[in-house]
Amino acid sequence: MTVRDDAAYWACPHGYDARHGCAPCYQLSGDAEPTLPIWEVAVWFEAHSAIPVRTLKEVRRHGRNYLLDQLSATRVYLLTGHARAAGGAQAVAALVGFLRHDGHLVDGFTVRDFRAVRLDPPPGLPRPDRIWP
Ligand SMILES: [Zn+2]
Repeated sequence: MTVRDDAAYWACPHGYDARHGCAPCYQLSGDAEPTLPIWEVAVWFEAHSAIPVRTLKEVRRHGRNYLLDQLSATRVYLLTGHARAAGGAQAVAALVGFLRHDGHLVDGFTVRDFRAVRLDPPPGLPRPDRIWP
């Protein structure tokens, strides 16, 4: 888990810590302004109990085309997907928010790491504005 002692850095626009997820960010990332940039987001997490294969496949049909894959380590999973968001914190908050608030998919989990990368950034966009954190 990336650690930085700066609450404002981690906060989504709703004031939640992006690493803990945000339901409004998740909702907004689907039908947000088409002018907002698209972020490719990856969230590694450890599930408190094993996730059935059927559930992993269900995620894809869940509306946003997210992918949930089990990594070789026991109960470590990778959730990937696209999110429309003004910034990387909001994009990560959206995917973690999906895990947190669609609780029937994943009972309990601990986020281990995450990364948001902006798709098609304009030339010259500084790194903090296209890769988060
Ligand atoms: Zn939010």
